Amino acid sequence: MRRAFVNMYERLARDARVRVRPVVEHYARNERDAGLVNVCIRHDVDIRLDRAAEIARYEADLGLRSSWYFLTDTAPYRVWESDIPREIAAMGHEVGVHSDHLYEQLALGRDGLARLREDVQRMAEHARCTVHGICWHGGKHIAAFGANNYDLYKDIDPAQLGLEYHDAVFYHEGTRKWRCDRIISDGENNLRFVPGKPGREIDRAESGADILVVTHPFMMYPLRFPPSVRYPDYPHLSPPRRRTLVMDLKSCIAYNKQYLGEKRTARLRRLVALLERIGMK
Ligand SMILES: [Zn+2]
Repeated sequence: MRRAFVNMYERLARDARVRVRPVVEHYARNERDAGLVNVCIRHDVDIRLDRAAEIARYEADLGLRSSWYFLTDTAPYRVWESDIPREIAAMGHEVGVHSDHLYEQLALGRDGLARLREDVQRMAEHARCTVHGICWHGGKHIAAFGANNYDLYKDIDPAQLGLEYHDAVFYHEGTRKWRCDRIISDGENNLRFVPGKPGREIDRAESGADILVVTHPFMMYPLRFPPSVRYPDYPHLSPPRRRTLVMDLKSCIAYNKQYLGEKRTARLRRLVALLERIGMK
């Protein structure tokens, strides 16, 4: 696992000021300690189902519980043929559905809400646990339709979907703005570029703070051996874009200016300019 994540987990497990909870407890039920730093860990399993059990075991061994959201029919893995969701649930983690159901409706002509309800129930049976919640999956495949998977259910009461929560719990009411005090995410590259970041964020957090960690298993490992990813034969499905060094550096600067400070930001900007000048992408 990348050093940044090992650092993060060690800190979360050891720091007596920190309490880690899965999404259902932290956001749906608002179980927080006013005197502690409250951290919630969410994993979106876009690819690399094989790594999920490994990470979940590592967390469980550290005494941490988190939330795991699995894709269903559009996944580049076969979740219904895998024991991993059940194993992860048995470790005490939360298991939910990573919803790609508006995509199914737009690209495949299915009834998205009916399919979502079906998958929630099927996941509960498959993982032998209660599925409390879902969160939406993004990507080029749905963007190709000018849509967003959250649009399918954002105005629907989770209870009508047989759930305790959906993404609305993460956001300020009626928006898609995160309601946590801080977010630590691999998606915007900040975590994998700045190994000390989680520790710093925890140091800066006041008692009662709400920190959300969002990760994807494939981002948590060095990409020395890129996985071969096979999607079902549906339109626009493809692995996440291969990132280039310059793209990564730009993204790192954009999301970490505050953390890097002026000097290091300026140095990185000069480096990017130099790399572009010599024709690097
Ligand atoms: Zn996703």
